[in-house]
Amino acid sequence: MRAARVLILGGTADARHLAAELAASPDEFEVTSSLAGRVAKPRLPAGEVRVGGFGGVAGLADWLTEHQVDALVDATHPFAATMSQHAAAAAARADVPLLALSRPAWTPDAGDRWHEVDSLTQAASLLPELGRRVFLTTGRTELAPFAAVPQLWYLIRSVDPPEPAACPPDHHVLLDRGPFTLEGERAVLREHRVEVLVTKNSGGQATVPKLLAAREAGLPVVLLRRPAPPAVHATASTPAETVNWLRGRAF
Ligand code: NAP
Repeated sequence: MRAARVLILGGTADARHLAAELAASPDEFEVTSSLAGRVAKPRLPAGEVRVGGFGGVAGLADWLTEHQVDALVDATHPFAATMSQHAAAAAARADVPLLALSRPAWTPDAGDRWHEVDSLTQAASLLPELGRRVFLTTGRTELAPFAAVPQLWYLIRSVDPPEPAACPPDHHVLLDRGPFTLEGERAVLREHRVEVLVTKNSGGQATVPKLLAAREAGLPVVLLRRPAPPAVHATASTPAETVNWLRGRAF
């Protein structure tokens, strides 16, 4: 019997961990990870890697069929809503079993001063009443809502540099990539005299220290709620659960 062919839609730490686990059992699994190609130098997962979009639902469904994929794992970021919708539609079209791997959302604790919003525009509109020095951790490609609130100062943290023309006028760019430590996040808040943090509710351990540091410092946090995921039959919140699901299937 041949190894089960698994395609992971990646771009997250969980996707990399899953790829490493599957690649460690080559008799059972033949794993390919797919990356969108947004980051100049991505951390590459174990196993085969392909980069770039598929060309919509039809392109992904064709890819699944042509490569005789036995199972699809959508391990994209919780805010990669388009890709998740495409994964659900393409898996149904190609009749390939799909599991959505998504870490649980963060939930507030005593001492947190969270303002939950549904869009970055709503986030930006709240900022003037919360603080003048803003720590933005929502990515370099979605700066327009903040550029529309130009009276504030922004610390923009991203993996690759943002387009200068897209940035608010008064800003500083901090190039870095997680995981982050509590000590490091305390230092960022202190050194840049941050007054308010803006973040997506990504969940997971790698980037949670900024929330802990904000709580300690008594700072308000504007938190973007997750988009609704598509309805899928199988879900998991960890790579280990995903491996169990894959092992439990008769390919
Ligand atoms: P998105 O808006 O949901 O997807 C837009 C398009 O990008 C998709 O239609 C697809 O193009 C392509 N794409 C997305 N993920 C892909 C993947 N893993 N492999 C191949 N093509 C992919 O996605 P996004 O929010 O821009 O995120 C892009 C990638 O960055 C994702 O892989 C995600 O896991 C990662 N990421 C996103 C965030 C975030 O906040 N959104 C944060 C951290 C990491 P086609 O239609 O041509 O197939």
